[in-house]
Amino acid sequence: MKVGIFYAYWVHNWDVDFHPFVEKVSDLGFDVLEVNAGTVANMTVEARSALKTHADDRGLDLSYVVGLQHKYDIASENESVRKNGIGFLKTIAEAVGDMGGGPVGGILYGAWPETPLDGDFDRRPSVERSVVSMKEAIKSAEDNNVTFNMEVVNRFEQFIMNTCEEAIDYVKAVESTNAKVMLDTFHMNIEEDFFGDAILQAGDLLGHLHIGENNRMPPGYGRIPWTEIGAALRKINYQGYVVMEPFLMPGGEVGRDIKVFRDLAIGMDLDEEAHKALQFTRGVLK
Ligand code: MN
Repeated sequence: MKVGIFYAYWVHNWDVDFHPFVEKVSDLGFDVLEVNAGTVANMTVEARSALKTHADDRGLDLSYVVGLQHKYDIASENESVRKNGIGFLKTIAEAVGDMGGGPVGGILYGAWPETPLDGDFDRRPSVERSVVSMKEAIKSAEDNNVTFNMEVVNRFEQFIMNTCEEAIDYVKAVESTNAKVMLDTFHMNIEEDFFGDAILQAGDLLGHLHIGENNRMPPGYGRIPWTEIGAALRKINYQGYVVMEPFLMPGGEVGRDIKVFRDLAIGMDLDEEAHKALQFTRGVLK
C-alpha cells in the first residue's frame, strides 16, 4: 500500500512551487506526494515535465486533487458555467496525461464549498446535470490515463454526495471505468454509519482514499477506527493510494478554505509529525 501526504499541510496558499515538497516528502519516507490539480493545469508543459522528472528521480508517485471553483461548477444551472467546468476538467486530465496520467480526486462533480440557500431545494436536478457534464469530461480522463475520483465530503461542504452509497450511484451513472469513488475518513466520520461497511460497499470502485483524524490532525491523534479501516481495505484488496491530509495551521487561503480557526500546530514540528503519522499509518493499515 502506497502512502502519501498532501503538500497543503505545510502551506498557507494553494499555488506553490511543488519541487521543495518532492524533496521533503521523499526524505520523510512517503511514497506519494499529492499536489493541487489546478496549479498543475496552469503550469507550462516544461514545468510539468520537470516536476514529473523530479518526482521520478526521488521514486515518488504524484496524485492530484481539486475542488471546483464556482465558475467551473459542472452542476450549475447555467450552461456556460457547466461548459467552463467541463473544459477545466479536460485541461486537468490533459495536463496530468502529459505527466503519464494518474489519479485526480476531489470535488470534481460540483462547486466547493456549496450550500443551497433554500430549505426546499431539490438536489436531484443538480445531480443529473453533474452526471451529464461528467460523462463528457470523463472522455478526456479516458484518453489520458487519468482516473477521476469523486470525493465524498460532508454536508457542510457539498450536497451532491455525502455518503459512499451516493457516490457509488453517481459513479455508476457516469458509466466509465475511469470514474471512481474517493473516501476521506474526516468526512466519513460525520456521514457514514460505519467506516468498514462504507469501504466494503465501495469495493472495486474505491479509487483513492484520504486519511485524517476527526479533527484533521495527523493519523494517530484522534478517534478514527484505524483497525476497522485497515481490515476493510485488506478485504477489498485495495490497491490505490492512501493519502493523509492533515490541516493544523490557520491563516491564508488554506486556513480560510479548510476553516482552521485555531492553531493546532502549537509545539509541533510538522515534519516530525508527518513522519510519525506515516509510521502510524503503515502500522495500522498494513
Ligand atoms: Mn479530502
